[in-house]
Amino acid sequence: MSTRFINRRDALRGGVALGALAVAGNAGLLHAAPPAVGKLPSRGNVIIRNAYVMTMERDVGDIAGGSVHFKDGAIVAVGKDIKAAGATVIDGKGAIVMPGMVETHWHMWNTLLRSMSGEKPEQGYFRTTSALGIKYEAGDMYQGTRLAAAEAINSGITYVHDYCHNIRGFDYATQDLRALQETGIRARFSYGPAQAQPNDKVMNLEDLVKLKNDWAKYSNGGLITLGFAWRGQGGNNSANKIPVEVWRAEIDAAKKMSLPITVHASGSRAVIGQIDGFVKAGVLEKGMQLIHAGFATPEELKAVAAVGAVVSLSPTSELRIGFGLQQISEFIEAGVLMGLSVDTVELTGNADMFGIMKFIQNVENGKRESEFKLSARRTLELGTIEGARSMGMGDQIGSLKAGKRADIIMVNTRSLNMGVFGDPAHMIVTAAQPSNVDTVVIDGRILKRGGKLTALKADQIATEANAASQALRKRANWS
Ligand SMILES: [Zn+2]
Repeated sequence: MSTRFINRRDALRGGVALGALAVAGNAGLLHAAPPAVGKLPSRGNVIIRNAYVMTMERDVGDIAGGSVHFKDGAIVAVGKDIKAAGATVIDGKGAIVMPGMVETHWHMWNTLLRSMSGEKPEQGYFRTTSALGIKYEAGDMYQGTRLAAAEAINSGITYVHDYCHNIRGFDYATQDLRALQETGIRARFSYGPAQAQPNDKVMNLEDLVKLKNDWAKYSNGGLITLGFAWRGQGGNNSANKIPVEVWRAEIDAAKKMSLPITVHASGSRAVIGQIDGFVKAGVLEKGMQLIHAGFATPEELKAVAAVGAVVSLSPTSELRIGFGLQQISEFIEAGVLMGLSVDTVELTGNADMFGIMKFIQNVENGKRESEFKLSARRTLELGTIEGARSMGMGDQIGSLKAGKRADIIMVNTRSLNMGVFGDPAHMIVTAAQPSNVDTVVIDGRILKRGGKLTALKADQIATEANAASQALRKRANWS
């Protein structure tokens, strides 16, 4: 046993002891303290004036000294010299105003396992996720997803694709959804299987039907849509193949309900050919989201482009887990819509879309041995308008345009890591950090202002999530 391992175990034991205290403390706290999420602010009539506005609409471009007026959840006008009678004025001096960033694939529930993917095979991502995932209680889904949603809002992400693949019962789904509802984030919730779902057993589709039929109850007034997280056809060897009657039943159910489908595909060298499997089975369709797809062959790439399927790339998890370098300009040049994603903070540690954009630009330029291959502006499109289009949301979010929903962020350019105003796309992709996000608006509600969350109590959310995580690890005897 290495010293390093002993140290790690001791450290974890310390963590468990602290966690037990936190749980005990929390039991009292829960009775006394007000909820960690306050009432969401109402949708007001607001104008941001005198800002550097990046509309992310190619035919409009940027507007220096520009304004954005939003009312009752929608953008009313974007431009200069806008009249907005009766509107509350926010001074945008020194700020870049841009659309909220669009995240396209995130297992939010496992945020309770933040940074826990270890450095030995028995502590790797998939084993850790499964070993702890099977010990989840429904309330842990709420705690993990609430922590993730709060982090997203705080860091300027206004739309998330919550790929929920640990649904161990109906209340696991509804607890996860409760976190999305309470925090006020815009989302697609994709209903998936449970962790350690046996390959030869069809996932619980009855509950999916129930959820779909009752969707008005969960959609948070249209902010949350429903999708299907398909587990695909399994791996390439007989031990991890999913029998045809099982995967057929699963995808057919989703198609029958007209749900948008997402699936991990051809992400690593070990699973080359998965997209080809979908083509041969006749299930690849327009709008289907293929996650990672780094090992898509030229033929698969052609098939994806021809049918109008889309991709989601998560460079911070893909690189950390050793999936290799992404195919970026290959998809862009083929005309395949691309979104960027967090995937899982168990691997990536945090949900920093600025960092994710920077990785994408740097990986592409590094691969091509060119400083000029992928521009910051094009990269920023992937994190906003193109990500939105890839999710079928391009007419509602992803750019600042009259008639679209008011998902807007203000980035303070006067912090020490910014300070010098240069090319704004370069500033956002290479210099900005979540701490520079001053204001966040989702569907017209101001959820962050002056660098502070307005409805969510960050400390309490973190404390309660930590207590849940420590209790979970104790139940799983995980050290
Ligand atoms: Zn994933």
